[in-house]
Amino acid sequence: MVKIPERMFKYCPHCGKHVEMKVKQEKTARRKGGMSATARKQKLRRRGYGNLGKYSKRPVTQTKMASKASKKVDLRLTCPECGKKWVLSYPRTKRVEMIKK
Ligand SMILES: [Zn+2]
Repeated sequence: MVKIPERMFKYCPHCGKHVEMKVKQEKTARRKGGMSATARKQKLRRRGYGNLGKYSKRPVTQTKMASKASKKVDLRLTCPECGKKWVLSYPRTKRVEMIKK
């Protein structure tokens, strides 16, 4: 488990100095609206019966990737002075906890 403070003292390249930045945990974005070109192709190919070529198997991501118990953490730092945002990535962990200072 990783404990992350809500505010971090980090360097802002835009302001050129160290400032106390707000920390927010990034969540996985949901796809808005329609499907991708590959997803559309896959849907068409999956119709009917017989050998569906490479679409006969489930994608690797659903079988192999699911075996990993931990996830990488992406944090978003916001500078209070210029309002710019930076991404800070953390190593793999099972659980993330935000602590108030
Ligand atoms: Zn700044």
